[in-house]
Formats: sequence, structure tokens, C-alpha cells
Amino acid sequence: MSERYPELALYIDGQWHRADARATLPVINPATGDVLAHLPCASDADVDEAVRAAAKGFVVWRAVAPIERGRLLRRAADMILERREHIARLITWELGKPLAESRMEVDTAAAMFEWNGEEARRTYGRVIPARNPDIRQFAIPEPIGPVAAFSAWNAPAITPSRKISSALAAGCSVIMKPAEETPATALAIAAILHEAGLPAGVLNMVFGDAPRISARLMAAPEIRGVTFTGSTAVGKILAADAVRSMKRMTLELGGHAPVLVFADADIDRVVAGAITAKYRNSGQVCTSPTRFLVHRSVCDAFTEKFTAAARMLTLGDGFDPGTKMGPLATERRLAAMDRFAEDARQRGITIPVGGRRVERPGYFWQPTVLGPTTDDDCLAATVEPFGPLALIRPFEDVDEALSVANRLPFGLAAYAMTDNAALADRVARGIESGNVILNHWQASSPETPFGGVKESGFGTEGGLEGLRAFQNLKYISRA
Ligand code: NAD
Repeated sequence: MSERYPELALYIDGQWHRADARATLPVINPATGDVLAHLPCASDADVDEAVRAAAKGFVVWRAVAPIERGRLLRRAADMILERREHIARLITWELGKPLAESRMEVDTAAAMFEWNGEEARRTYGRVIPARNPDIRQFAIPEPIGPVAAFSAWNAPAITPSRKISSALAAGCSVIMKPAEETPATALAIAAILHEAGLPAGVLNMVFGDAPRISARLMAAPEIRGVTFTGSTAVGKILAADAVRSMKRMTLELGGHAPVLVFADADIDRVVAGAITAKYRNSGQVCTSPTRFLVHRSVCDAFTEKFTAAARMLTLGDGFDPGTKMGPLATERRLAAMDRFAEDARQRGITIPVGGRRVERPGYFWQPTVLGPTTDDDCLAATVEPFGPLALIRPFEDVDEALSVANRLPFGLAAYAMTDNAALADRVARGIESGNVILNHWQASSPETPFGGVKESGFGTEGGLEGLRAFQNLKYISRA
């Protein structure tokens, strides 16, 4: 591999700040355990400078016509595609996912910039007919102000791209704190916006001690909105902070997606799709299908075929063309997966495939299937695994399936497989989830609204609503 992993920096007020005297964090290649680089951590002074820059940048950016904002975002989309191979390699380097998956992620990140770039010019307000004919009434969207954005590591190009492109399209400035595990991908996006001509201060990117940075940003009165993708536990901390300082918030939190497989479903087709959906990115996807609720009459056939297909997955370095599943992102995730398997073993739950670490350098864990089991109290049935683990649970009828699907405090994505339209309709209405996907596995796209219910969070990213989340509606009335 001739290309080198890049030097890392903070990006504040249009300037790149290298480590210098700052503390640093190692960035690890999860496929080998090697240190790729040292990431500079933002000091309190850096964070304060980013806040000042974002406040100044907001004044500049809100005055730019939406059509011009859109043009810049579309230029960035083109540049992301021009650098597709470079960014895809960064993703595979720092996250470990197979290069083919990384390329698809880059395409989606570009599509988000494109969508928001196109939508920027369509942020219409309303003229509201008045009761008094001599009065004019308007509802005008305005950007909410500087936004603090935080993202997890599992989609290092898509998640920052979605937040940054929606906020910029709306006219906001942004302080982005991407995950410390995957900084180079986010910095590549920042570099593109810089080169595309984004004015200084409109986007700032910091890394470091996450709780410390977020506490400082959440206390800053200049910051008017917060958008977070990550765990429910951290989401609750940010929500409390946001309430204290009355910031608008969008929280995209954990999920634990059920998949309802009914007796009429084509099991071969379901298994083929399910294997890809489950083990892509080693299962580290918030919409990853995890609880496979399968009608009892087809449960054995489903388990056998799913297990056989999981056994066939080739594990390896994401740069190897034959690799179907890469490592987990961190040592922390390995330890978490061990706990799910150990709990299942103690409860006597069958583990037809996987359940253990792979003895090689890096953070590899086997593609795993648990069950079939009706033990709804096991760890995998209650806590989001966020890893390559599928739990199979038989059900007797649709009422039982819905009740099991809805029993957790999460509601992000749910899937159902049936050709029976009435059944599909009943499931779509009965499942408590922000997203219900019937007979396929694509849970979101740049054009569609995406968000959770219950402890999976609130607010919407994507679609028209994702942009509107960064705007207030001002009412103006003129006699
Ligand atoms: P995490 O909540 O631990 O970390 C997410 C990000 O928040 C990281 O960048 C981290 O540095 C930062 N962070 C940590 N503590 C913070 C604090 N006190 N204040 C502000 N930021 C803080 O999550 P994780 O374990 O890295 O990611 C996995 C979780 O993210 C899973 O639960 C997954 O379902 C969820 N997720 C949700 C979505 C969605 O769209 N709903 C998408 C991807 C991941």
C-alpha cells in the first residue's frame, strides 16, 4: 500500500492545527492493532476558539443566498466522488470495513451533500391569509445558529456528512466533533469543504476528551442547536445539557432492530438479504437487524440456512478483496461481544456458529448466531449488541411477534418479511419504530426522513425534515 495514513489536525476558523503541545490520542487500525497516527486533542482554549469562530462564521454564512450555499455543497459532493478511492481507504484503515462497503459509504456521503445542496434553494416559508385584509402574515424559516454536532465511529463518512450538509444548507455554522476512532475520514470531508471555498469559521472540527468538549459546547450560549449520533446513554446526558441551555436537539441513538419473518416468506431470499444486512460493517450499524423473530413453522429452516450462510463469511482485513467481514472497530467492542456470548452460554442457549474472538492480531470476532430461543431475558434480547450477532426467536402468531418486537425501550428500525399485504400493513402500523422496512433491508437514504422513537431518540435526519431541523420558523406580520 503506497498511500500513507494522513497526519491529523484540528480544523478551527479555517486553519489546521497540528498536535504541537497538545495531548494526543492514538488512532488504531482495528485489523492489525497497529497505531496509525496520533490525534491532537482540543484544549479548552481550542474549543472556545471554535465557538468564537462558529459565531463569526454564522453571521457570514446566513447571509449567503441559499442557492449559493447549495452550489458549494454540490461542488463538495462532486469532490467527494473524485476522491472516492482515497476516502474509502481511510474508512477501511481506521474502521476496518471491507473496501467495497467503504466505497458505498463514500457514495452515500456524496449523495447527502448533493441532496442538501439541491434542497437548500427550496427552504420555502408560507404566506398565511390574515383575518384582517390589511395585514400580511408570513412564516419565514431562519437558521437556528451555530450547531454542535457529535457522531459515532460506525459510519465515519455518512454521519458527519449528513449533519454538516443539512446544517450548512439550512444556513447554520457547525462545530463537528467526530469520533476519535475515525478522524481522518471526517477531516477529509472538512478539507473538501475548505477547498470548495467554505468561508472560515463556518465549519470547525475538533477531537479530544468527548465529555469535556461537549460540556463546554453545551454550556456556550452561542451554540443554539445540537445534533448527536451515538449511544442512548450519552444521548441522555446531552439531552439534559440541551434542556438546561434550551438548545434545539436531534438525537439519533441506539436501536435493537427486530425482523419479523412470516411463514409465507421466501426463506432463501430472506436469508440472502439478511446475511448481508446483519454482517455488513460487522453488525456495527444502528439499524442492523438483530432479533430475528421467525414463525415457528419456518424457524428450523431459517436457522439452518442462516447459520450455513454465516459460516461461509470470509473474515479478514478490509483491504483484502476476498474479505466479506472485517474486524470490530475497537477492543471495547470485542469485550462487549464476549459478554453477549458468555451470557448465552450460561443460559444454555445454542450457539450454532461463532461466539468467540478470532485468534489473530486486531479485533476480530466471529459472525455469530444465537438460538433459536424464547429466552427474552438474555443479554442479546435486551441490550443492543452493535456487533456481528443474530438472535433467532420463534413465534406462534402476529400478536406474539408484535409484542416481542415492541417490548424493548428502543424503536429505531424494524423489518418484516411477508407477501401478505394485510399482514404487512398490520405490522407496519403495529410496530413502535421510527422506520419500518418491509421485504427489503435499506433503512435510510438521503431523501428519506430517518429517526427513532422511544429511547432511540427524537428528531429527524435526512429528507426535507433533516434540513428543517436546523431552522426556526419566524412569524412576521405587517399591517
Ligand atoms: P457513544 O455514545 O459512546 O459515542 C458516540 C460519540 O459520542 C463519540 O464520538 C464519542 O466520542 C462521543 N461522546 C462520548 N461521550 C460523550 C459525551 N459525554 N458528550 C458528548 N459526546 C460524547 O457511542 P458508540 O458506542 O461509540 O456508538 C455506538 C452507539 O451509537 C450505538 O448505540 C448505536 O446504535 C448508536 N448509533 C445510532 C445511530 C442512529 O442514527 N440512531 C447511528 C449510529 C450509531
